[in-house]
Amino acid sequence: MVDLKGQYTHIKSEVDQAIMDVVNSTAYINGPAVKDFQKSLEAYLDVKHVIPCANGTDALQISMMGLGLKPGDEVITADFTFAATVEVIALLGLTPVLVDVDPDDFNIDISAIEKAITPRTKAIVPVHLFGHVANMDAVMELAKKHDLKVIEDNAQAIGADYTFKDGSQQKAGTIGDVGATSFFPSKNLGCYGDGGAIFTNDDDLAHTIRGIVNHGMYKRYHHDVVGVNSRLDSIQAAILNIKLKKLDEFNAARQNAARAYSKAFENCEFIKTPVTTTNKKCDVENSICDTCDCHVFHQYTLKITNGKRDALAEHLQEKGIPHGIYYPIPLHLQKAYADERYNEKDFVVTNQLVKEVISLPMHTELDDEQIKYITSIVIDFVEK
Ligand SMILES: *Cc1c(COP(=O)(O)O)cnc(C)c1O
Repeated sequence: MVDLKGQYTHIKSEVDQAIMDVVNSTAYINGPAVKDFQKSLEAYLDVKHVIPCANGTDALQISMMGLGLKPGDEVITADFTFAATVEVIALLGLTPVLVDVDPDDFNIDISAIEKAITPRTKAIVPVHLFGHVANMDAVMELAKKHDLKVIEDNAQAIGADYTFKDGSQQKAGTIGDVGATSFFPSKNLGCYGDGGAIFTNDDDLAHTIRGIVNHGMYKRYHHDVVGVNSRLDSIQAAILNIKLKKLDEFNAARQNAARAYSKAFENCEFIKTPVTTTNKKCDVENSICDTCDCHVFHQYTLKITNGKRDALAEHLQEKGIPHGIYYPIPLHLQKAYADERYNEKDFVVTNQLVKEVISLPMHTELDDEQIKYITSIVIDFVEK
């Protein structure tokens, strides 16, 4: 699915040097590399504060702690996402409220959010799934109307530009009150282990969060709030500092690969390619808009609409072509998150998507020949 080795060979000398510099410096925890990376990422994202932490799941949890959400508060998020998003909500004693998603872009359904809002609702967590930014115009509008906090789960969309209705642009993850991301190796900006970060433009919130990641300390050995220990290692920060400089190039390579995939599938009847429909501006059926960067293709995910998805997965397995099914079970049907409040009628889209989606290899090293080979095998199997 990813070719981390291929990418590493292009940046090997720089990365090896950066790692050895940290090793020689012995500044393994909170060394200068962490501060450097924080500053570079703040500049790249055009956000006031980046707070590095240990992983993306921590980033989500700490964001919610920082916002002062309390047990019993309801937090609305998408039913179709990785479990980390809902896990931290539950772990903090908050009440997760899962809602359906949009069948075209797989992101949280705005009308479903609106339907789920109650007097106890305190926050919305849009997940920019597969690298496509959710409809943030609508999310922010709803949040303003109902006085809700917005926590963007940006683990899959770092570097994506969101274009608002008025034409202005902002980086994904910097639009809500707070954004959380992951530097897991296969993410668009991945390190060589675990890592994560929190973004915010709110000075007070940034201060609160900086204490929380450090055992709730604002002054050494004074613990004002219950915190956690969540740090980005200096070695990982040094690697990320090198890779951040190449993030736009990496994302462009993913977009090119996505374009080539979608071109190959253009005339297929049962293979639906990803659409980038932010603001319905680039709403061209079966195509990827050339001028819009609202999708950075963490995954390239197809819908197979003639019931052959599982058979295709088996066929690809036999042919040795990597593929993934993200996600095979909706969160509201997972044992840990099932709840009698949920009604199957409210999850028509996710219940269908889990049967249709399949993701193809997506990374920075894909070439035309690989894409030609993969797409011809998929088309021959599904369409014939
Ligand atoms: C990867 C991911 C996370 C969690 O990140 P970790 O660094 O693995 O903890 C959270 N949300 C989404 C949507 C993800 O894809």
